[in-house]
Amino acid sequence: MSLANAPKPLATVLVANRGEIACRVIRTARRLGLKSVAVYSDADADARHVREADEAVRLGPAPARESYLAIDAVIEAARRTNTDAIHPGYGFLSENAAFVAACEEAGIVFVGPPASAIAAMGDKSAAKARMESAGVPLVPGYHGDEQADEHLKAEADRIGYPALLKASAGGGGKGMRVVERSEDFQAALDGCRRESKAAFGDDRMLIEKYLTQPRHVEVQVFCDSQGNGVYLFERDCSVQRRHQKVLEEAPAPGMSDALRREMGEAAVRAAKEIGYVGAGTVEFLLDADGRFYFMEMNTRLQVEHPVTEMITGEDLVEWQLRVAAGLPLPKAQDDLTISGHAFEARLYAEDPEQDFLPATGTLERFGLDLAGAGLDAERVRLDSGVEAGDAVSMHYDPMLAKLIVHGDDRDQALATLNRALSALDVAGVITNRAFLQRLASHPAFKQAELDTRFIEHHHDSLFAAPRLDAQAYAAAALVAIDRLQDEANADSPWARRDGWRLNAPAAIRIALTHPAHASDDADSVAIVTVRAEQPMTNNDWHLHIGDDTLSGCLQRLDGDAVAITLDGHRRRLLARTERTTHGDTLILGDAQGETRLFWRRLDAVDHGHHEVDATLTAPMHGTVVALLVEPGQTVEKGTPLMVMEAMKMEHTLNAPADGHVESFHFQAGDTVGQGDVLVEFAPSE
Ligand code: ADP
Repeated sequence: MSLANAPKPLATVLVANRGEIACRVIRTARRLGLKSVAVYSDADADARHVREADEAVRLGPAPARESYLAIDAVIEAARRTNTDAIHPGYGFLSENAAFVAACEEAGIVFVGPPASAIAAMGDKSAAKARMESAGVPLVPGYHGDEQADEHLKAEADRIGYPALLKASAGGGGKGMRVVERSEDFQAALDGCRRESKAAFGDDRMLIEKYLTQPRHVEVQVFCDSQGNGVYLFERDCSVQRRHQKVLEEAPAPGMSDALRREMGEAAVRAAKEIGYVGAGTVEFLLDADGRFYFMEMNTRLQVEHPVTEMITGEDLVEWQLRVAAGLPLPKAQDDLTISGHAFEARLYAEDPEQDFLPATGTLERFGLDLAGAGLDAERVRLDSGVEAGDAVSMHYDPMLAKLIVHGDDRDQALATLNRALSALDVAGVITNRAFLQRLASHPAFKQAELDTRFIEHHHDSLFAAPRLDAQAYAAAALVAIDRLQDEANADSPWARRDGWRLNAPAAIRIALTHPAHASDDADSVAIVTVRAEQPMTNNDWHLHIGDDTLSGCLQRLDGDAVAITLDGHRRRLLARTERTTHGDTLILGDAQGETRLFWRRLDAVDHGHHEVDATLTAPMHGTVVALLVEPGQTVEKGTPLMVMEAMKMEHTLNAPADGHVESFHFQAGDTVGQGDVLVEFAPSE
């Protein structure tokens, strides 16, 4: 049945979102014969979702508050384009009851549940109380109204540690902290309240017993306005960092049919309890003993919905649009079956090596050559909101794309995921691609030994510094020398012809450190001594690393590509350099993946110990949230000095050594640019 003849006829749908989800909704809308309308902020005027929609309307300036979260602007855009229905995607206005009411008032269909259902689940505390009375099992904890600091502390002490603080209004892992000890409670509470206030304008908290080895298993439910409800099975989303999902799969490994039915039925009960309509997800923690506890219900389409689509063969956005048009669910429970296994990997612009710090920049390359990698297009799906040439800005979530694969069984799907991750070609912005590969090929993940602290538990094997040989260090040193030459040339333009070498000292020493060793002692630093032999005939350098001596040269090719020849063996690599708070970073990529090293040029005289940077610079554009120490106050290495916020997450800058802060250059509330000096730090002797 065409949606134009449905009880609530739909001809035009506006997507009040950006990035991959906007593109994904537009795709289905187009297939169903609907006209699609995109909306955009100034930062996104030329973004992919704008390019793909039939029409697009500007909302306002880059900050989400003034664009994607501006209810009036979105409603006005819908009016201007004769929109019948608004799809909110996830995040932004998707779970905003006031927005649903505004749609209703404007006579526009909201593709999602009624405002009352959003309100019932929007507040985690209230939702828990309601689910408790409906007989859905809960994690032991406190979700009351009394919010005084001392009261919350007393409740946490009663529940016991580790305890988990969560923002009542929270979502997306924000405003959430594990508290290990009673002494740490107040600091964690302050941080959570700040983050929650900033993200949700609300700082009420709830506390739960922190389960130490649970799995995150969630059930996809769907209800129509005729009172039908079904579950489309479960997803396991246990692999998380900062309480945010990284790898998801469906079905959840090791589920018995009985448990699947029990959880599915509990989820449908939860949805019906609140008069739910549309797509929703009921999240549970599944304990090792097979008991499950309600965590929350997300009243929208989830990021990870494609794994459910892969195993059921259904298009969930189509289901959403049909239900929004007043049609009944396309299928009944007994008509739904699971076929094979699916994974989703989330590609983030972030640096796993630096505690998953979000990254910005311009994507020089972005693509997946399926045919080249021998992959079946039916089995691999790349849901992306970006293309090569696009900028990744500080304003929005750092997720770039999702890679989704399907296989006949888990092993086959996992093999496909690994192959597809290798074939994903991204350059220009730091991403977690290589980290995803390490996760997807990790023996414990292969064995489906899952729990929500998977990344923490396997930290050492996931982040182990690779054993680099003299060749790798020599290649890195050649790139470093190349950059030093560049700098020298930039300083004196007329020296370009002669180059830097004429004035260069006879030997230059480059220190290279793997990020996994950055805080370790001097033993983990590789020092390469580079000599230009006189007279120079063939551009060769002599490189000494420990007992090894190699001769080599670097030739620049297109873009980031370089050819490095060492003792007559030439290899093509991609080489980039970046500046971070931890130092200058060098990134070398080849078919096997990337190697990242910190590098610096050592002075002629080496003092034999690490120098500590006397300044701390902003790792990215953002806002200063709080200064945590007084200038002059003596601190130990690792003490938090200040908190910044960027890309909707807080980041703490820690003391690089024992010492004291000489001065802060910014106050709370100030905006800072990447590389700005934030703190003058004086290490003690
Ligand atoms: P958000 O809405 O911010 O995503 P959730 O309440 O859904 O927050 O929790 C996110 C993740 O945090 C869960 O997937 C799980 O890994 C972890 N988590 C939440 N509650 C608990 C708990 N009580 N014990 C252990 N882990 C938890």
